[in-house]
Amino acid sequence: MPELPEVQNTVDGINSSVMGETITDAWSDYDSPFYYGKNQIKDPVYFNYFKQQIIGTKILRAERRAKHILIYLDSGATIAVHMKMTGHFLYGHWDWDNVDNKWQPESGFWDTSWDMTKDEVKKTMPFSDPFNNFIHVLFHLGNGMHLAFSDMRKFASMTLLENESEIQDLLHQYGPEPLAHGMTAHKLFHKLKTRPNKKIKTALLDQSLVAGYGNIYTDEALFASCIHPESRVRAIPDDAWEKLFIESKKILRSAIKHGGDSMGDYRRIDGTGGTFHNMHTMYQKEKTPCIRCEEIIIKKQIDARVGRLCPNCQVLYI
Ligand SMILES: [Zn+2]
Repeated sequence: MPELPEVQNTVDGINSSVMGETITDAWSDYDSPFYYGKNQIKDPVYFNYFKQQIIGTKILRAERRAKHILIYLDSGATIAVHMKMTGHFLYGHWDWDNVDNKWQPESGFWDTSWDMTKDEVKKTMPFSDPFNNFIHVLFHLGNGMHLAFSDMRKFASMTLLENESEIQDLLHQYGPEPLAHGMTAHKLFHKLKTRPNKKIKTALLDQSLVAGYGNIYTDEALFASCIHPESRVRAIPDDAWEKLFIESKKILRSAIKHGGDSMGDYRRIDGTGGTFHNMHTMYQKEKTPCIRCEEIIIKKQIDARVGRLCPNCQVLYI
């Protein structure tokens, strides 16, 4: 699932490619009875309303809050998107294929008759990457290009927030941002420490306590700060909180710089993958030696999630 760095990369990609463009039309084939009657574009009746509201508006800018993307329009409304498991935006040009009933990138899709490996295709013709092949929303832009949304598992959400109070209703539930200007360890973990009995990994994953972390970056940040993921919040000493804050910022910034993590299906707005997954020290590293002490990394169920840890050099505070 995209976490803070992947969502931030998407927002940066939207700002660098479609800022100032006018939305001239919108298309979606999401249709889920579970969402009927809700303000979600998976209800086709709502999508029709959504479309009427956004046609003719200009995209002012995009911002990230927690794992949400907010696309501000010059009408005063805001498109709010949560990419969930597999959603990601792409900027390019697609043509409707009447035979397959789907959007095809100009480059076409890779098939085995091509004299190229999958990796070569991903590099040279990124929209041919199979993970970019599940277009469920497409915005037509005034410059003749498209802002498309690929979502293999179809778990993403998209809606229109019509005023500031609707934005606040969505965002007030989230904890502080690790990379916010002027953030300190005290400010970041203040809310989280109101849950003293929680395990630290579980607490970090709770978006209402602190925003933006997911399974990858909790594994990486807890390892870098030598904290065992099952440590109880109440028992972690001040210097370890400080280290967790500093290491988290370093890891999140590095992941943003490397275009996010594409071990799964996350792709950048140009269809290419990020490279942070090549820098993992802990996530998906079970059964390999720890880079600090060479003990073998283990995988362990921690409350509802699975985490990785070094049983030797991550301190268990209980
Ligand atoms: Zn170790």
